[in-house]
Amino acid sequence: ETNGERHAFQAEVSKLLGLMANSLYRDKEIFLRELISNASDACDKLRYAAITQPDLLGDDAALAVTITPDSKSGVLVVADNGIGMNREELIDNLGTIARSGTEAFVKQMAESHGGDGQDEQDGQDGFAAGLIGQFGVGFYSCFMVAKRVEVVTRKPDEAEGWRWRSDGTGSFSIAPEADAARGTRIELHLRKDDREFLEPLRIRTVVKAYSDHIGLPIWLENDSGQKEMVNEGSALWSRPKTDIDEAQYREFYHHIAHMPGDPWHTIHLHAEGRIEYTALLFVPDSRPFDLFEPIRQHRVRLYVRRVFITDECEGLIPPYLRFVRGVVDSSDLALNVSRETLQNDPILAKIRTGLEGLYEDAEQKDRLLPLVRFRSTGGGDRWLSLDEYVDSMPEEQEAIYYISGEDPDALRRSPQVEGFRARGIDVLLMADPVDQFWLPVVGAYKEKSFRSVTQGAADLDRFAVRDEDKPDETDAPPPGEIDKLIALVKLTLADAVKDVRTSERLTDSPVCLVADEGDLDMHLERLLRQHKH
Ligand code: ADP
Ligand code: MG
Repeated sequence: ETNGERHAFQAEVSKLLGLMANSLYRDKEIFLRELISNASDACDKLRYAAITQPDLLGDDAALAVTITPDSKSGVLVVADNGIGMNREELIDNLGTIARSGTEAFVKQMAESHGGDGQDEQDGQDGFAAGLIGQFGVGFYSCFMVAKRVEVVTRKPDEAEGWRWRSDGTGSFSIAPEADAARGTRIELHLRKDDREFLEPLRIRTVVKAYSDHIGLPIWLENDSGQKEMVNEGSALWSRPKTDIDEAQYREFYHHIAHMPGDPWHTIHLHAEGRIEYTALLFVPDSRPFDLFEPIRQHRVRLYVRRVFITDECEGLIPPYLRFVRGVVDSSDLALNVSRETLQNDPILAKIRTGLEGLYEDAEQKDRLLPLVRFRSTGGGDRWLSLDEYVDSMPEEQEAIYYISGEDPDALRRSPQVEGFRARGIDVLLMADPVDQFWLPVVGAYKEKSFRSVTQGAADLDRFAVRDEDKPDETDAPPPGEIDKLIALVKLTLADAVKDVRTSERLTDSPVCLVADEGDLDMHLERLLRQHKH
């Protein structure tokens, strides 16, 4: 046969295709969104590969998507000059269901078909139609409008390309294609009823509605070969907030999130100063499918100056925030940063700190603070909420005391907390580096200000010492001796310290260091000194 070798679709794909073909789904137009989204991903991948292998771009460096309707033949072509696919990739990507969103879709579909009574057919179609709209099921959605689909594709570094053909019923064929252009060209042989997608106005409207945010040009070609750009052509996150409406954010979310539903919360921030980055992050409105998967991988895409780098950047987002979807684009990372060393990049560490909610997202702090848990000097291994802490404070206590450092156990033993322990006052242990950043921003909780026990006067005389911790009166030094001692210490240490004072803080240790009121917290000062180098 001249059609090349035949391959059967994976069973789930066949099921999905059957659904597509008979879909009652009204918004069939989303097939175009899916194809453009794939084309844009393919261009992103090539742009990234070309950083280290500029030859891959050859004399065709203007990456773009081109849509060409041919009303005579009834064929709609969506082409890109991106990374293309080799034979194996064609078989894997367009023959099986690899991506989690689609898999979840098929699962839900299968569950809903549990009874499988024929007379329920209408109801089931309605249900599946709803799901298609929610999920967006990728490449296969083109069978909603096409009775036959051909894919011609070639990798940039290969001489020969491939042609994939299918009518969406059970199997596809693959054959070599001698003069395939670089990238991927999808030819949709539209059904009679779906020829509306050949009308330029219809295409333009659909692109505007779903793909305006795509960061590369989308061209619409007419019969005489003239091209017109039909999208904005700049990455959504790089545009000013004021120019973006909610619908555009929503479409961008659909493009990158692969989640049903809409964003529940959108954070679009541009950080300037010592490091510069833009983040556009979304909190989905439903639980992710991989909630219980052991690989706690997040789904935030990393870009450097609008060049896609990776969506597997470990450490960009803390694991507990892995339900967040979105984009981080930094102009400070080196373009040729390797994916492997990214994790240890100091700039990335700073971006990550910036992305953690308590610090950057001060508006949300009233909702986030009650969720945070702390260890404390009195709490053993227990994690306290701020409410628990505040509720068990004695009446005389006006501040939330904390001590910061690197190691919670060392903090528990530090001399600065002795006096607090002796008076039964709990001290929170702030051992996460990020604590140093949100604490000054947040300032207080329920009108109780946060107060470092290593800073300023301890104002401990307002609290009574527990009996067992009372000092032995007979040990008290004769009057005047303390003043002499202080004078001697001051003289010896000279400029190394600002002041020497007696303190209520200590019960066992003879001395401890504290920062003056208004000066930086000692631990923060240490952290900052480390970062200077
Ligand atoms: P998804 O985009 O979520 O991975 P799709 O069903 O849309 O799922 O596409 C499946 C895979 O097929 C893609 O991940 C990609 O590897 C490949 N693919 C699809 N379209 C293209 C294209 N235009 N260029 C290169 N690869 C493509
Ligand atoms: Mg896709």
